[in-house]
Amino acid sequence: MAKQRESDRAAPASGAEESAAGDVAIPAAVAIAPCPFCGDGDPAIDEIDSGIWAVCCNDCRTIGPHTDGKHSAEQAIEAWNRRT
Ligand SMILES: [Zn+2]
Repeated sequence: MAKQRESDRAAPASGAEESAAGDVAIPAAVAIAPCPFCGDGDPAIDEIDSGIWAVCCNDCRTIGPHTDGKHSAEQAIEAWNRRT
């Protein structure tokens, strides 16, 4: 019985989608906790300095942890969320 070689045909990758990146890449998976001071439920992540990110409360103007240099929005949000 002769062996037959089966050639694998590489299937073209389908469904490759590239998400349109905006100017500010905010990880949607990370939720920002409400402001621990005034309870505002919609603090915003902002780049307060070159490459330094912090969560800022639009209501009481609290600026979240950033002194040790949060170099991504995700880090800044995580630091903010621990500050309760
Ligand atoms: Zn606040």
